[in-house]
Amino acid sequence: MNTDSYRDVINACRFCFMCRHLATTANVSFREADIPRGNALIIDRLSMKPEQWSNPDFIKTFYDNTLSAACRKHCVSHFDEAGLALAARCDVVEQGLAPAEVQAVADALKADFDPQLSGEGCEVLYLKSTTYTAGAIAAADAFAGLMELAGVSYETLSVSDTGKALGALGYTKDAAELAAQVKALIEKSGCKSVVVSCPAAYDALKNDFAKWGAALDSIEVLHTSEYLLKLVESGKLKLPENASTVYYIDSDFLRNYNDMAEEPRALLKAAGCDLRPLGTNAEESFALGEGSVVFDKIRPTLAARLRARLIQEMDSTEDILVTASPYTYEVLTACTEPKLNVLTLEQACLAQAQTPAAV
Ligand code: SF4
Repeated sequence: MNTDSYRDVINACRFCFMCRHLATTANVSFREADIPRGNALIIDRLSMKPEQWSNPDFIKTFYDNTLSAACRKHCVSHFDEAGLALAARCDVVEQGLAPAEVQAVADALKADFDPQLSGEGCEVLYLKSTTYTAGAIAAADAFAGLMELAGVSYETLSVSDTGKALGALGYTKDAAELAAQVKALIEKSGCKSVVVSCPAAYDALKNDFAKWGAALDSIEVLHTSEYLLKLVESGKLKLPENASTVYYIDSDFLRNYNDMAEEPRALLKAAGCDLRPLGTNAEESFALGEGSVVFDKIRPTLAARLRARLIQEMDSTEDILVTASPYTYEVLTACTEPKLNVLTLEQACLAQAQTPAAV
């Protein structure tokens, strides 16, 4: 079982309450099962009574988890509670116990996989991950504008999934198959650097591809915030002055999985944005289930409750929110009452995107 290799996490978390205030789902469900302690107790029980793996309440709990990793990030010993929850999903799938709504999303992800490479021969390849199309287009269009300002040419690889969404649902073998095809196209492009807006796709290329046997040897993987900052610092890109006051929502994959909290903020500051803190606890995840990659597709009600909680934390519903995640962008822009002002990180770096209405 995949969960067997997390015995240290089970033993540490099953009697510990220390991070419960950061458990993203539990902050809206108020269920003890949704904190790392609850997950660890369930999985500990399953290790002793494996016949109970088919219990639908246990399976539901594993998929209710946002995998935000906020608890792991701020645990003093960084016990991998998110890895344990993901391993439980993998065990569910490998035993043929995936719930219908999860299987349906996984089937659609596999059926929709049709990667498109725009061309070959550029040093820079932009990876456009279209699992969340509107957010991906918003980020990609603004990135194109910034690259035009910098005078840098690039090619684009569009993928509906890098394998990350399937992997987060527990379908590791299928994820690895998609990753192998994405790797082949990246190598075919002849690029030296892959630049990625979507934090989930960035984490896949940076961390998962090697585990899935698709390591990108000698090709640099950069998030757009890292890449654009380099262009700014080298003087190649002069960002238009954007004097807006904005509230940046930390990405689970950038901050909690890759320790990248500063680069997006440095880029926004370079664009002249006045950054304000969101909410009352900077350690909390407000990415609305981003860590689970397709959370709103399998748990739409929970995603909406997470969004309602974020709205409660806002100083004003007219404030401008900035997110690096196409997923978070779409969950926020889907809100009709109130209508929220949301920008991708790339849009916030363009002067014409000072107000969302102009986007
Ligand atoms: S992740 Fe750390 S703080 Fe949270 S329950 Fe486990 S041991 Fe405790």
